[in-house]
Order: sequence, then structure tokens, then C-alpha cells
Amino acid sequence: MTDGHAVPEVSVVVPLLDEEASVDELLARTSAVLEERGVSFELVLVDDGSRDATAAKLRAAEATDPRLRVFELLRNFGQNAALACGIFEARGDVVVTIDADLQNPPEEIPRLLDAIDGGADVATGLRTQRYEGLVRWLGSRAMHWLARRLTGARIRDFGGQFKAYRRPVVEEVRRIWAPGKPLFPLALWLGFPVAEVPVRHEPRRSGDSRYNLRSLLRINVDLITSFSTLPLAAIGAVGALCLGAGLVGIAICLWIPASTFAQAASLTLLGVGALLLATGVLGQYLGRIYQQVAGRSPAFVVRRGPTSD
Ligand code: UDP
Ligand code: MG
Repeated sequence: MTDGHAVPEVSVVVPLLDEEASVDELLARTSAVLEERGVSFELVLVDDGSRDATAAKLRAAEATDPRLRVFELLRNFGQNAALACGIFEARGDVVVTIDADLQNPPEEIPRLLDAIDGGADVATGLRTQRYEGLVRWLGSRAMHWLARRLTGARIRDFGGQFKAYRRPVVEEVRRIWAPGKPLFPLALWLGFPVAEVPVRHEPRRSGDSRYNLRSLLRINVDLITSFSTLPLAAIGAVGALCLGAGLVGIAICLWIPASTFAQAASLTLLGVGALLLATGVLGQYLGRIYQQVAGRSPAFVVRRGPTSD
């Protein structure tokens, strides 16, 4: 930390998975930007189980710069878990999160800090130009729409992790966070005022996105199940509909002579409807239990913390 501050003004949190190609440039550019702004800062670097030289490079840098704090997770726990580790370990008054691959240029960090200085509790980068394939683009459209509905926040770009949070936001999110819960939507769901700031977005220079279709689907499922038990209620609703239709069918069959097919179909609808309805009711209880236990399983395990702490 600079200037002998016990608490840095800004913490920059970076999750890294196999980013050896960009580590050095990331650290140099981020430090330069913050030095120029004249704030005290720390860089909280979370290695998410990299198999390349990322951790070794981070440790080497940490040994020469006391503003760096490196956390190595025991294995790959995923970006959200690595981010959670970094955000909750960060000590700064403002916590900035940024990707390691330089798709978010560190030179844009001051824009987020300006928004926070301007009174926002949360600042988020609005990527004006995107570098992604069509499938990815469609997937993120769906995700943004969902996130808007689930959190109630009227912002355009939920994706990416180029954000800044004031300390009170971090503390509130920490209280209700559970493994699998996406951090940024959680902060918005709590109702903190958010400012959306246009930022540059650059193509990935080395390697491919660490995400594939499966992990993107996972993110959307996490998003829905974190904020809503609607799918469980939907099962019950479909069940109730089938049950109703079956009852009407049986009544009609009793009233006017009907084929055995119509009778069988009505009975089947009745049975399936009753089962689905029962499943939906069970689901409501399950949902409540899930909400209670979700906070108790560890989302990540740190193998080794900073050498200086
Ligand atoms: N990342 C991580 N763990 C993972 C996947 C990604 O820590 O399991 C990091 C990655 O190193 C990068 C950031 O999260 O710093 C965003 O990942 P990526 O650039 O692959 O995602 P995209 O830009 O495609 O959203
Ligand atoms: Mg990227």
C-alpha cells in the first residue's frame, strides 16, 4: 500500500485462469493508471487454478511490490468464485473488478472511479463495442434480459466483470452471498444505485474465452435459481392445469358417451396433473431449504494466501 495507509483507497481485484501471456502487462498498466490518479491501492490477484505459469508470475511480482496480494485457489472454482474470494479479501474503500485478459483496458478504471466519486454506489462498464461471436451475443442478450427482470435494475449491460463497488456494498453482498450466486446482480438486487459508464472493450489477444456454451448456460441457470423459484412454481402451475383439464375431460366423458381413448386421455391427464402438482408443492419446500443452506458450503478453498499478510 502506498503512503502508509492502513486501508487503501482502491482495491483492484483480478481473477486469473491461465493468463500467463497478459499478467505482466496487466500489472504494469493497472499500477501505472492508479499511480497517475494518485490514489493508494492494492491489487488482489486470485489465481483460479491455472495450469500455466500465471501463479509463478504473480508470486514473482508480489515479491517485489508490497501493493500486490496473491491468492491461489486449490483448483479451478470458476470466475464468480474467484471474484468472490478477491472481493471479500479486498481491503479498499472502493473495490474494482477487472478481467485479466486486457479486454477491459485498465486505462478505463478512472471512468468507473469517477462514477463512484460522483455518488454511485456501484459503477459498471457499458461495453460500447463488443468482440464476440453470434451465439455468445444471443446468449448474453437473453442473460441481460433475465438479469434486468430478476434484479429490477434498468441497465443495458449486465455482462463482463468490469465494475466498481463502494465498501458498504461489498459488506452487504458478503452477508447474503452463497456459492453460485452472481455477485454483481446481487448488489443491484439489494437496491444500491448503479451508474453505467461507457468503456472501451478490446478483443482477446491471447487464447480463447475461458467460457464455452455449457458454462454460459450454467451462468444463466445460476442467475435464475439464485433470484427466483419461478421454475418450481411453474411445475406446480402446469400440474394444476393438467389436473383441471383431466377433471373436465372425465366430466364430459360421464355426460356424453366418449371413446375409450378420450376416457384414457382424461384419466392420464388427471394422474400426470396430480403428480406434477405434488412435485411443484415439494419444490416450494425444497426452494426454502435451499435458500437456508446455500450459504453453508464453501465456494472456494485458498491454497496459499499473500506472503505479506
Ligand atoms: N476466469 C477465471 N476462472 C474461470 C474462467 C475465467 O478466473 O474459470 C477469468 C479469466 O482469466 C479472465 C476473466 O475470468 O480474467 C474472464 O474470463 P474470459 O476472458 O475467458 O471471459 P470472457 O471475456 O469471454 O467473458
Ligand atoms: Mg475475456
